[in-house]
Amino acid sequence: MAIKSLNKRQSALAKSEKQLQILSNGIFQNGELPTFKAKISETNQFPLQAKKLEILQINLGYMCNQVCAHCHVDAGPDRKEIMTRDTMQQCLEVIKTTGAHTLDLTGGAPEMNPDFRWFVEEAAKAGIKDFIVRSNLTIIRANKKYHDLPDFFKKHQVHVVSSMPHWTRGKTDKQRGDGVFDQSIKALQELNAVGYGIPNSDLKLDLVYNPSGAFLPGDQAAMEKDFKKALKEDFDIDFHQLFAITNLPIARFLDYLIASENYEDYMYALVEAYNPAAVKNVMCTNTLSISWDGYLYDCDFNQMLELPINSKVKHISEYNEALLEGRNIAISQHCYGCTAGAGSSCQGVVA
Ligand code: SF4
Ligand code: SF4
Repeated sequence: MAIKSLNKRQSALAKSEKQLQILSNGIFQNGELPTFKAKISETNQFPLQAKKLEILQINLGYMCNQVCAHCHVDAGPDRKEIMTRDTMQQCLEVIKTTGAHTLDLTGGAPEMNPDFRWFVEEAAKAGIKDFIVRSNLTIIRANKKYHDLPDFFKKHQVHVVSSMPHWTRGKTDKQRGDGVFDQSIKALQELNAVGYGIPNSDLKLDLVYNPSGAFLPGDQAAMEKDFKKALKEDFDIDFHQLFAITNLPIARFLDYLIASENYEDYMYALVEAYNPAAVKNVMCTNTLSISWDGYLYDCDFNQMLELPINSKVKHISEYNEALLEGRNIAISQHCYGCTAGAGSSCQGVVA
């Protein structure tokens, strides 16, 4: 059966307050498990504070051609929240002056925003060192108007980062929908054909792995080896790095955990795998996330939970990098997903 977004299903979990309630109540309220705040306080790491900005992550909208089972954005074709050109213009003013070395465009499927190409063309002119677009791959094959995306990415020297939950059809389609594996393979071959992902190529193509169930990812380096071997042998596909990320217990993954009666066990697993050394490198300490409507958040996960930023500066129109530095990061129990094992973020292992 096709998956629908929480929004489309009118699920109670479509509301961020409901998700935050679940994350704060039950096993965390009755003291069975320590809150994230209590845990990081044990090693004097509370409050978590933002350091110098290195990564500006912009969410161009929640619309997506896919409806993956574990999407933390609750993205899908029914989501109509997309960034306007006016807000993009405000982002461009910031991109031109920021000290950040990485610009990271995400969604949904960012390519579905009608102003995506204009924005990439304008943003590329700022010459930010690492310009990432998070592409779900299937969008390249979804419609004729997207078929030239590999050439477009190449023209603007964009670094492509794409989700690929597994090198087998069964596991990939289970998480991301029927037919996703075959279309993703074709898209990867098309990216390879224009030079992406080839050893020593400057056209960077990285893949992101996230577990297909209520378990934590294995060793990133070992998985990268397995992915490379399988994709090369089976489909002659090359890529550069594999990032292994932990699913955070929010949005559709939280819904899945609750529906499969795995929520408590998963939270226990996250807390047991807590690694104090990973705390200092969590994504929010060097990243700022901008939502489709221009509001600022500590990370993409906090954006989805609508956890407001602790700063006078709330919106891209009033951006001030110096004022944002040193702010206290807004946290809740979902943060355990960033500090489990070696720790993980949108960029893979952090510790
Ligand atoms: S995980 Fe990515 S590709 Fe899948 S529905 Fe969410 S935004 Fe779309
Ligand atoms: S979920 Fe966000 S705020 Fe929490 S630790 Fe991870 S990056 Fe930081």
